[in-house]
Amino acid sequence: METQLKIYIDRLSDEKTEKIRENLTPDFIDVDEEDLQFRAPVHIEGQAYIAESHLIVQLKIETEALIPCSICNQKVTVPLKINPLYHTEELSNIRGQIYDYTPPLREGILLEVPTYVECGENCPEREKIKNYLSEGNQQFPFADLKEN
Ligand SMILES: [Zn+2]
Repeated sequence: METQLKIYIDRLSDEKTEKIRENLTPDFIDVDEEDLQFRAPVHIEGQAYIAESHLIVQLKIETEALIPCSICNQKVTVPLKINPLYHTEELSNIRGQIYDYTPPLREGILLEVPTYVECGENCPEREKIKNYLSEGNQQFPFADLKEN
């Protein structure tokens, strides 16, 4: 996939720093599942520089994910903020003097996705589930066996 997420190593010689500031369409995340979707733009801001034999990419990332509420399954917009992501790459691993930082950026975003999400402050269905659970707990599951 062609992206603008590239760092040209030769531009970073003599301790130069490259500023990064982009508003990206979320297509590069390439995840579109029932329980995880990205529709909002991805805003990234940061810098890239060389420290000894490594390229350092430092990024603040902001976007939103769409995830179903863990209780009622309604889609919830979840803001994701990563501040900052640090990625280090050995210069000797970078072929052709061009580093595409799509993979660490994508991974950084996906690692930030919460596993538990609730709609609103508290899901309105939460009470129903609580009642259901406490009713269930009152019944000893092997009550019938004991009576025999
Ligand atoms: Zn809910």
